[in-house]
Amino acid sequence: MRIRELLITAPLFFTIVSCNSGKDAAIAADSINAEDLSRYMEVIASDEFMGRAPATKGEELTIKYLSEEFKRIGVLPGNGESYLQEVPLIKKSADPKMKFEIKGAQGTLKPLFATDFVGGTPQIAENSSFENSDIVFVGYGIVAPEREWNDYQGIDVKGKTVIMLINDPGYATKDSALFDGKSMTYEGRWTYKFEEAARQGAAAAIIIHETGAAAYPWGVVENSWTDSKMYLADNMLSKSPLILQSWVTTDFAKKIFVLAGLNYEEQLVSATKRGFKAVPMNLKASASIASKTEYTKSNNVVALLPGNGKSDETIIYTAHWDHFGVNNSFKGDSILNGAVDNATGVAALLEIAEAFTKLGKKQDRSIVFLSVTCEEQGLLGSEYYVNHPLYPLEKCAGNINMDGLNILGKTKDMTIIGMGKSPIEKYAIEILKRDGRYARPDAAPEKGSYFRSDHLSFARKGVPTLYLGNGVDNVEHGIKWGVEQMEKWITENYHKPSDNFEPEKWNFEGMVQDIRVFFEVGYNIANAK
Ligand SMILES: [Zn+2]
Repeated sequence: MRIRELLITAPLFFTIVSCNSGKDAAIAADSINAEDLSRYMEVIASDEFMGRAPATKGEELTIKYLSEEFKRIGVLPGNGESYLQEVPLIKKSADPKMKFEIKGAQGTLKPLFATDFVGGTPQIAENSSFENSDIVFVGYGIVAPEREWNDYQGIDVKGKTVIMLINDPGYATKDSALFDGKSMTYEGRWTYKFEEAARQGAAAAIIIHETGAAAYPWGVVENSWTDSKMYLADNMLSKSPLILQSWVTTDFAKKIFVLAGLNYEEQLVSATKRGFKAVPMNLKASASIASKTEYTKSNNVVALLPGNGKSDETIIYTAHWDHFGVNNSFKGDSILNGAVDNATGVAALLEIAEAFTKLGKKQDRSIVFLSVTCEEQGLLGSEYYVNHPLYPLEKCAGNINMDGLNILGKTKDMTIIGMGKSPIEKYAIEILKRDGRYARPDAAPEKGSYFRSDHLSFARKGVPTLYLGNGVDNVEHGIKWGVEQMEKWITENYHKPSDNFEPEKWNFEGMVQDIRVFFEVGYNIANAK
């Protein structure tokens, strides 16, 4: 409904924009500058803020700073009298000594934690266990009626252990008619697979890792499961019967299939076929996990510029403030400052808020500036927000998300991550075109970037979202250089202590140019008829 409405009004709207967007917006957009952004980023990414881990001193400093800056800029508290929205959380400690074994007629497998598998329990109890639970291979573990796909068809897995593949049949076959072809889908993500297993009443869920299909090597899985894990205090997994969520390496998975007397490769192929039937493996799994639960809380920071006329409707800008804090397993510098990820986005949020105040009058719709917590813990802050919205989601005209902005200089392009999924992407395409730039689709949709930032929480609730990422077509050095530099940055600095604020090395021109686009897109949606 909303999509159709926007499509119908779009041509009319654009003629309005060209006069509406005019001088005032241009002056306000011009107020976005590198000096202001640097001032914000220097503080947010400083060692003093200790990597901004949720529920730490780093959080206290961050949310205080953001609240004060929003106030100084002249943007109102977004939650009644407060700039904060409390997010109740639980923190589950990892148990690398957990017992996990798989028994078959031919013997018993006892995998090694971190080497062969990782896992943990979402249950609150300090000791959780299950014994001799039947193992069932459920293919991709997907129930998607709209795709006429059900890997749990005709099988009851209550109390059982389900083992499944990462990603989806479209990726595995590269068949564009299956799922979204090689692009990752929501059902291809690990978070979905654990949730579906929980909905089915399984006692344990095991995902088979494969580097290409997961889009990251085993080491990434290992790192994120060997430390404690955060969940929303009110989450479906803790309330479900799911005792163990686990990943195994491909090599270990093959051993499980051998023990079951099944051919792994054949099973992979059959899982990609429509009408696949889950396969009972004639194996039994047992596990016992000792894991402490700590109740804690974090905060989203939220600020508001009320609209005039359609003030009950909103545009919500989002940028997560959290990062990974301090990790002593890194030698030397152990502070993950998260300068690009995501001090850049948070600085942009403040700078865009300030630009709106420069317009000197209220916009038609209200503008909300939401800096969410726990993005790095699995989009928890944004998920909490959409489940406890401060402004009705059905009256949210658009969510514009910023995560990791451009430090490599001006580009001719910007990337629309999830291009084609967004009913508001046309607003960005139009502005880029006007500026002699262009929009490109995500170069590697199989990596699932669309499912890895906070706009996803809004999209899942039906809010039109725009996740506009950096371009690669560098004005000075071209595309090849742009792609190389971006990949180099990811390899060397992504989620590492070296993601530092380095103004002497950064080129701010691209960031400024892109933030002006974010501002104008929001401005145009805020005033669209
Ligand atoms: Zn991020």
